[in-house]
Amino acid sequence: MFDVVIVGGGMVGASLAVALKPLNLKVGLIEAFALESSQQPSYDDRTVALSHGSRLIYQGMRLWSEIEADSEAIMHIHVSDRGHFGATRIHASQENVPALGYVVENRVLGRVLYQALPSAEYFELLMPATVVKVSPSTDQVEVVIQEGDSTRTLNTKLLVVADGARSPIREQLGISTTQRDYGQTAIITNVSTEYLPNQTAYERFTSKGPIALLPMTQQRYSVVWTLPHAQVAEVMNKSDEAFLAQLQAAFGYRQGRFTKVGKRAAYPLTLVKTTQETATRSIIMGNASHAIHPVAGQGLNLSLRDVAVLADLLAEAVANQTDIGSDVLLANYAAAREQDYRQTITYTDSLVRLFSNDHGLLGHLRAGGLSVMDRVPPLRRWVTQQSMGINQRKARLARGAELRV
Ligand SMILES: Cc1cc2nc3c(=O)[nH]c(=O)nc-3n(C[C@H](O)[C@H](O)[C@H](O)COP(=O)(O)OP(=O)(O)OC[C@H]3O[C@@H](n4cnc5c(N)ncnc54)[C@H](O)[C@@H]3O)c2cc1C
Repeated sequence: MFDVVIVGGGMVGASLAVALKPLNLKVGLIEAFALESSQQPSYDDRTVALSHGSRLIYQGMRLWSEIEADSEAIMHIHVSDRGHFGATRIHASQENVPALGYVVENRVLGRVLYQALPSAEYFELLMPATVVKVSPSTDQVEVVIQEGDSTRTLNTKLLVVADGARSPIREQLGISTTQRDYGQTAIITNVSTEYLPNQTAYERFTSKGPIALLPMTQQRYSVVWTLPHAQVAEVMNKSDEAFLAQLQAAFGYRQGRFTKVGKRAAYPLTLVKTTQETATRSIIMGNASHAIHPVAGQGLNLSLRDVAVLADLLAEAVANQTDIGSDVLLANYAAAREQDYRQTITYTDSLVRLFSNDHGLLGHLRAGGLSVMDRVPPLRRWVTQQSMGINQRKARLARGAELRV
């Protein structure tokens, strides 16, 4: 019998498996695709901007020094609006943090997480293997797994579902979602620029959608360019030169000319939110619970706070020798996460709505908004704290403290 079985070894499932290490629980992690597989959906060509709050969580998990060694710090953020003069600047020094965020390649995070998984005594990794059926009952959950041609059944006291936004397992548990197509697709790539990145991230809002340039390793910028669905095929099919010319026209010349572009990939954007986070002996987390627009780089940061809160509650249950899949624990988890979900989704959605609109008055308001934000410290502070992920309930890992039982 397992204590915890985690469906999905993406960035969230694998982070949880590592976070639970000090608790000496028997944990199973099931991942459909090997790390090096071209079909692996979590550790692909993207980068992720980790907030200061996520740094603290990985610090508590003793992973931070390794992640930091292969990441680029964001010391300044420059937010602007194409066609308007308003702009706002945020500096790490003013916010009293070592950096506003850190840009890491998803593959690097995958490597670090998988190297840190618990030892075989307490842990089993099934990969590649796919969970095909889950059946919860009062005292356990039965999990049926397909490994090549054979099937295997595991039993666990607690099931954690972290199998991504589409999550067929969530459906099997009878948990429904609300979904909204943002009407936009994110094109991701990386570029080299005439001027070297100086630890500055750019968020540029245009009438078609936001463009983020994040400083990354090897003096490149990671680009997330959001466009209406209808324009994506044309942009994806352009030659490198034509692609760079269009990006340059939309972004401008703050970093000089764009000189080189890497591989491109497109991600259609839909808001997915479950109507509840728990079912009998089961918790839904990460993208399976809330997939949000990447405009503010909040998705994984929000999910790592799921990990920190659940790890904290499980540590308490282990210390008190109470049932780790009890209704009380599940209810405490859902209650602890609710406000963070509401705030983060509202914050992200407000940015998308306000800044993806061509309407003249909105344009003036938002340009005004940016300069007002620059002049009103409490407002800027709220936005900054929200994006750094430090406005939330402090689980031990979220404070950068290690878990101990
Ligand atoms: C363009 C873009 C840019 C982003 N940038 C940022 C950013 O800067 N900062 C940030 O915080 N977030 C960012 N995000 C969000 C971030 O990528 C997600 O929050 C994160 O990927 C969620 O991880 P996850 O593990 O929940 O889901 P996933 O990454 O989808 O992983 C799910 C895993 O489950 C596995 N799986 C699925 N079904 C099964 C099954 N039945 N059995 C076994 N395994 C299964 C899959 O193979 C996969 O590995 C961005 C997202 C996009 C689209």
